[in-house]
Amino acid sequence: MTIEEQPAPPLIFDRSRTGRIACSLPACDVPELPLEGCIPPSLLRKAPAALPELYEVDVIRHYTALSRRNFGVDNGFYPLGSCTMKYNPKLHEDIARLPGIASLHPYQPESTVQGALELLHTLQSDLAAITGMDAVSLQPAAGAHGEWTGLRMIRAYHESRGEQRKQVLVPDSSHGTNPASASAAGYTAVTLKSDTRGLVDLDALRAAVGPDTAALMLTNPNTLGLFEEQIIEIADIVHQAGGLLYYDGANANAIMGITRPGDMGFDVVHLNLHKTMSTPHGGGGPGAGPVGVKRFLEPFLPKPLIASRPDGTYFYDYDRPLSIGRVKPYHGNFGILVRAYAYIRSYGAEGLRRVSECAVLNANYMRSRLSAAFEMPFPRICKHEFVLSGSRQKAYGVRTFDMAKRLLDFGFHPPTVYFPLIVEESMMIEPTETESKETLDRFIDTMLQIAWEAEHAPEKILQAPAGTAVSRLDETLAARRPILNCSCE
Ligand SMILES: *Cc1c(COP(=O)(O)O)cnc(C)c1O
Repeated sequence: MTIEEQPAPPLIFDRSRTGRIACSLPACDVPELPLEGCIPPSLLRKAPAALPELYEVDVIRHYTALSRRNFGVDNGFYPLGSCTMKYNPKLHEDIARLPGIASLHPYQPESTVQGALELLHTLQSDLAAITGMDAVSLQPAAGAHGEWTGLRMIRAYHESRGEQRKQVLVPDSSHGTNPASASAAGYTAVTLKSDTRGLVDLDALRAAVGPDTAALMLTNPNTLGLFEEQIIEIADIVHQAGGLLYYDGANANAIMGITRPGDMGFDVVHLNLHKTMSTPHGGGGPGAGPVGVKRFLEPFLPKPLIASRPDGTYFYDYDRPLSIGRVKPYHGNFGILVRAYAYIRSYGAEGLRRVSECAVLNANYMRSRLSAAFEMPFPRICKHEFVLSGSRQKAYGVRTFDMAKRLLDFGFHPPTVYFPLIVEESMMIEPTETESKETLDRFIDTMLQIAWEAEHAPEKILQAPAGTAVSRLDETLAARRPILNCSCE
């Protein structure tokens, strides 16, 4: 069976014809204000604006065609490793838009927002339970922001003990935000080499820790999708040197309901609610990166926290003298927190575990079938994602970049490519937990077909994408100097 390519929708630009009109407005029935006097004459338009003149259907088709050139979770499979599009229930969008939620003002008196405070308070404790932490702040607006907040707390903790530790250890497979957050928080990031199994090398760790180690930042499973089996030993090594353990929980969908960072020895964790818990991400936000800590770090959490009184009412607790302070105006991105609350409530504890089980099952199914044609640098059971190498195809002159472009011809968003950096020609694949077996199979069959083409018809791949509105771009230039004007068409 061969798989059909999916052509892009046709272009329609510049159909303006003088005199065409898309709507009719009733005659003005109030006195028209003389513009002179209201607006400085230098700002008044001398001639009517040159706007396109079109019929209503043409306008609608124009924008619909534009929207179809965008790829999103509602168009198709989106197996972007590490930052995958997890399941974003549409119902939660409706919940976040309920008037009683969407119209709240952050300056409203506490007594009028008790329901919202209860929601936040419950979410704080739900996230603490899911991560195995003792206290949670909902303020940070993104994963990187959570990392920075966590490291600031780690710094405040060491300083409270009269220590000025300067280094944060990060594995070479870590997400780029980890070393960046470490330096933004005033630390030097020290890279730890992974061993041949893709895991933290214990000897390298022992050699790197010392009196200058403030923390080790780790993702478990790591960005290769592999679980650090020696995590308890890793935690002991860092703790014995007086350092703390930071857990990057941006993608918690491999472990929810199965294990918890708190039980693995971590002291601080952030979650990306805009990945794991309902909010669609991409396009720059908004997001939420709550941080959770063990009891001994609780005094340093950002303030205010949402607290409850014995009479069952809720309040903003500002009385926190050791707090690192506020890290975000108001109380975090409330709409995102509402979606996460809805996600946890609608799944329940058993459901969250099932999410993780499906994420892991989907990833292993794909890994196992794809290993027929692709090099698997770490051929072991993975968690929610896995990394393959395009090295076999490279031998035929086809690179991972080319195969990613070829996937576009079949209506798939490509996986993450060339990350993590430690795998040659890497492709990092993460299937969303809610995808059907048919969708997974169609993607796998397409990948196998592309592997066949690499060997027998490489020009098809090298010329891809054929079916998109634009072909290969200078991606760096397109990001730095975007041309947003369509008159060129
Ligand atoms: C996405 C991601 C981050 C950063 O999160 P942002 O919200 O984009 O700042 C950090 N670590 C990992 C592992 C991630 O996947």
